[in-house]
Amino acid sequence: MLIVMHSAARSEQIDAVVAALKNSGLNAELLPGSERTAIGVMGNKAFVDEDRLLTMSGVKEIIHVTKPYKLVSREFFPEDTIVHVKGVQFGGTAKPVHIAGPCAVESREQLFSIAKGVKESGADMLRGGAFKPRSSPYSFQGLGEEGIALLREVADELQMPFVSEILSIEDLELFEHNADMIQIGARNMHNFDLLQRVADLGKPILLKRGMSATVEEFLLAAEYILNRGNKQVVLCERGIRTFEQSTRNILDLNSLALIRLESHLPIIADPSHSAGRYDLVAPLAKAAIAAGAHGLIVEVHNKPSKALSDGKQSLDLERYEELMKEYRNTGKQEVGSEARAKKTGMKPETSQAVFSSS
Ligand code: PEP
Ligand code: MN
Repeated sequence: MLIVMHSAARSEQIDAVVAALKNSGLNAELLPGSERTAIGVMGNKAFVDEDRLLTMSGVKEIIHVTKPYKLVSREFFPEDTIVHVKGVQFGGTAKPVHIAGPCAVESREQLFSIAKGVKESGADMLRGGAFKPRSSPYSFQGLGEEGIALLREVADELQMPFVSEILSIEDLELFEHNADMIQIGARNMHNFDLLQRVADLGKPILLKRGMSATVEEFLLAAEYILNRGNKQVVLCERGIRTFEQSTRNILDLNSLALIRLESHLPIIADPSHSAGRYDLVAPLAKAAIAAGAHGLIVEVHNKPSKALSDGKQSLDLERYEELMKEYRNTGKQEVGSEARAKKTGMKPETSQAVFSSS
């Protein structure tokens, strides 16, 4: 339930409503917005005396939220959430964010050459898996901790933030101290313990849709994170399983467009894992942006035929450059402390806290 206050409601009036709810044993959360302040009442079994609430000064209306997800919904927060990863901004009217890099980190040379190439083509962020959720136990499982160290080193050298997938709560500390953004992959979207433990780190999270998850299940997974007090969540449509076998998955643009309406959280698209083949990546990428995606995450390899994972769907550096020509005139987000300083008008070293990712 949502108690919407008049736009002119004074803070004492808002506080009085919150106090009345708490006195009745209800959980009330203040949801401030630029147009209105609302108070969310969630997960409560206690009786709500709506008639009394409606007579309190400053109260405009009571809305019954029928959707099972609350904090991620536009009913609760009508305005777009902006997620900050160092100087990169996802959501709202920010330019689409371009994340690119290898499926898996394989070596320093491989990572550096790809990161440098994608940066030159206009990528804003680097991706790279160090802990790989492979279907077969015999496939390359990633470099683990060493992979994260390489990502940190290369990201710092090239001044571009990175995102990498966490598989286990055993690695929380490693990611807390090293990652700029933490990915929860399709296979772990339903791992609610992991979602909550990662949420508690307070870092930005890239949450990928499970390959058989409905929109409702996807948004409820995000709800687990917001419910822990972390609003820095970017959703990712990465393709779903259907009867169609001719491509790896189906990029579900219906759901992407629907989620833009339903939720205030930014959503990006992963055309690489959807397609499973490099020659479908560019058309799917363009379709996703046209459907309203706030960015793309694309797998790129310097030698796709030698890649230790997902080579078939990886663009080489030339093909990535070709794709990015489409977007270069829409501009590239500036990253690093200089960009933050420009935005905040503060000195580079003091502007860090304003845009810090946690
Ligand atoms: C990945 O991004 O490397 C990955 C494994 O993706 P997904 O979880 O979407 O399969
Ligand atoms: Mn991959």
